[in-house]
Amino acid sequence: MSGPIIVWFRRDLRLADNPALAAAAAAGAVIPLFLCGGEVAALGGASRWWPHHSLAALEESLAARGSRLLLRRGSAAEVLPGLARETSAAAVYWNRTYLPAQDAADGAIAAALKGAGVGSRRYGTGLLHAPETLRTRNGRPFQVFTPFWNALRQQLLEPPAGAPARLPAPPAWPRGETLAEWGLRPEKPDWADGLRESWSPGEASAQARLASFLDEGLAAYGEGRDFPAGAGSSRLSPHLAWGELSPRQAWQAAAGSAGAEPFLRELAWREFSYHLLHHFPFLPERPLRGEFAAFPWRDDPASLAAWQRGRTGYPLVDAGMRQLWRTGWMHNRARMVAASFLVKHLLLPWQAGESWFRDTLVDADPACNAANWQWVAGCGADAAPFFRIFNPVLQGEKFDPGGRYVRRWLPELASLPDKFVHRPWEAPPEVLAQAGVRLGDTYPHPLVDHAAARQRALAAFAEMRQERCQSLAGDGGEGPYVE
Ligand code: FAD
Repeated sequence: MSGPIIVWFRRDLRLADNPALAAAAAAGAVIPLFLCGGEVAALGGASRWWPHHSLAALEESLAARGSRLLLRRGSAAEVLPGLARETSAAAVYWNRTYLPAQDAADGAIAAALKGAGVGSRRYGTGLLHAPETLRTRNGRPFQVFTPFWNALRQQLLEPPAGAPARLPAPPAWPRGETLAEWGLRPEKPDWADGLRESWSPGEASAQARLASFLDEGLAAYGEGRDFPAGAGSSRLSPHLAWGELSPRQAWQAAAGSAGAEPFLRELAWREFSYHLLHHFPFLPERPLRGEFAAFPWRDDPASLAAWQRGRTGYPLVDAGMRQLWRTGWMHNRARMVAASFLVKHLLLPWQAGESWFRDTLVDADPACNAANWQWVAGCGADAAPFFRIFNPVLQGEKFDPGGRYVRRWLPELASLPDKFVHRPWEAPPEVLAQAGVRLGDTYPHPLVDHAAARQRALAAFAEMRQERCQSLAGDGGEGPYVE
């Protein structure tokens, strides 16, 4: 090949185990490129903060190899053909994101490049296996996790590759923009303190996090991962979401070690989420189980706002929501309980929660977020049945005994005795006074009563099923909806 190859980075912000970059480097000069287009503009605040720092880290590691990261504003369809002409590029290489809309757009971009006489190649790296490669014995998409997991484990996994030794520069660098010009970081007000304290984006940090998790966390992961106060889970999710670490690197590093199995299973849940999104691209918007389209959700902006700001009066829910607000991340157990509370206790649509998480999580991931919200709401694949309703008090007492997590994120409850830390409304007045808690003032009364909310949720579920039966009968009698 004669001209340089443009490598278009997206959610693969790393040099190692990056097949598009490796193939380009093997062929000749490379122009690494990141585009600030519609997808970046549509990201939530916390998800924009992350790539600012991750791209800065990528710029540094490219510079250390004598290369650069070219930053351009605009969509790929607008920028790539022109840039290829401007740099006399021989081809554009990129890795698939496995997001259905982008997969479809990628085909059109490849065609536009071809029309302009520029070749293109697409590689896979963001998943262990491309979502279309796994199928049930009947050739259908999986909708149950365990058979998916069994099929996934039987696939051969290629070992991850290292970073290219050399990244030859093009004869001339085209003009680019700067990260500062893109304004991905919040300025006024700068709310990112908690993000800065909690995270260090970039490939080197992702590798360091993986190494410390393997040394200190993996062996105890199976028991520790469910307790939000501890450091029991890997906290690799934002690094995986931005491709600073490939799932193959995480899998290979953990496989074979003591305690690896439950961790590999979680990586497989990520794969399962992408598998679902690939086969059901409406996953972020519509329930996978169609009968939930008739669910009688409520419209209650005040309760939604209380949930968003961690002011529901249920300590485990509120602690999770405040951890999210401050750090851009929430422990998985708290995510499940907080999400369940929104959907089942408040009867607010899961899409409202999905959207808030998308805006506030640093690991916001279109596939994992949507699949998990649907799972919690009972309308997704292999989902928790709707009628199984988490009791946030018992969840707190089981997974945060002693209330260390709650005390950390709700300092106003820090002095309550263990017995009341997950149920402050049951504490006698003198105990509240001694702990400095004034319910309704320093900490809210419960937004809803658990038992009443549970009854209301079950009634709403029954109403949905009733409506489903009637509509099926009206449709010509396919028979009643059976679970
Ligand atoms: P670990 O327990 O160390 O797991 C290792 C990796 O496995 C994670 O980094 C993640 O990539 C993957 N993983 C773990 N659990 C799941 C899961 N349930 N589904 C899919 N992948 C999983 N995860 C996201 O990455 N992005 C999201 O936007 C997201 N939204 C969620 C929304 C809800 C309502 C719920 C209940 C869960 C959501 N999750 C999401 C899944 C899970 O909570 C996070 O992946 C996990 O908490 C990240 O922490 P960790 O890296 O320490 O996980």
